[in-house]
Amino acid sequence: MLKQALYGCAGTLGLWRLTRRLTRNVPRIFMLHRFAAMPDAQHTGADELRRFIQAIGQECEFVTLRELISRQQAGSRPERPLAVITVDDGYADFHRIALPVLREYGVPATVYATAGFIDRQCWLWWDALRYLVNLHPDGELRLEVGPETMAMNIGTVDSRQRAWNDIADRLVSRNELRPAVIAQLEDSTGTRLPQEPPPEFSAMNWSQLAEIESAGIEIGGHTMSHAFLPSLDPGMLRHEIHAAKALLEQHLQAPLQTFAYPNGMATDYSPAVAAALADAGFGAAVLAYPRPCNPRDKYRIGRWSVHPDSETVGHILSGASELKLRMAS
Ligand SMILES: [Zn+2]
Repeated sequence: MLKQALYGCAGTLGLWRLTRRLTRNVPRIFMLHRFAAMPDAQHTGADELRRFIQAIGQECEFVTLRELISRQQAGSRPERPLAVITVDDGYADFHRIALPVLREYGVPATVYATAGFIDRQCWLWWDALRYLVNLHPDGELRLEVGPETMAMNIGTVDSRQRAWNDIADRLVSRNELRPAVIAQLEDSTGTRLPQEPPPEFSAMNWSQLAEIESAGIEIGGHTMSHAFLPSLDPGMLRHEIHAAKALLEQHLQAPLQTFAYPNGMATDYSPAVAAALADAGFGAAVLAYPRPCNPRDKYRIGRWSVHPDSETVGHILSGASELKLRMAS
């Protein structure tokens, strides 16, 4: 039994040496979202982030996405694989929880900031939805979502979560339906959405964003209002891409060079959106799911969304996950 286990182990180690060698030029790009002092499935804690950084640091060299692209363009071949930690949206918890840990290790990262959210023009729409669904009295929640009438029974934490999920699913690619749904929820809860989101949903402010930039964090674009881009007319697309970039650049030192698609699914990419990104001066864009590495396809770069403590992190670092992706595609 022991002998078998030892052979199995040696086999795995040998295999991982091979996958490492085969994928040395493949960057390991990770995506995180929220941070909290008390971590849970949706929020990374400071100690989890420390362990994550230590694990990545044993195998890889940390860079920002901008630096990764510039090294790829220069044709440099890294000694160790490059790794990028990316964080989407621009929530204040990045500044509060993640920044001190990144500073402690001297590790860079890339933050994709939703310009209108930072500028206090808007809530992130799914947070507005969650806030109002949580305030809704127990019982039936009826909503007109476009042509559809939704009727849900809410009361428990789980049923509110399910209702939120079902509504959010219907709004994710329908920018035009969001205001009417929020307005109906305001009516049925007898509440107006506050101008400023409460702390759990709040954005960094401009001075915090400038501070993280000074600490070596790259700021990238993530639209003005987290709109679904492929359905926008050219004027609105310019607003979400060009105007959002200009607004962020008014407050920052470095021009924005990379972008993350809101939602980041395959349907969030279109050739017209990529052309608008190139026109605005974005040289690369990331999705929210993994794709096999292809340095020529700069507007569809994949990312790994993982729990920082999961076993998958080891598979990604070893390159085994990349090889599995290539075999599947
Ligand atoms: Zn986002």
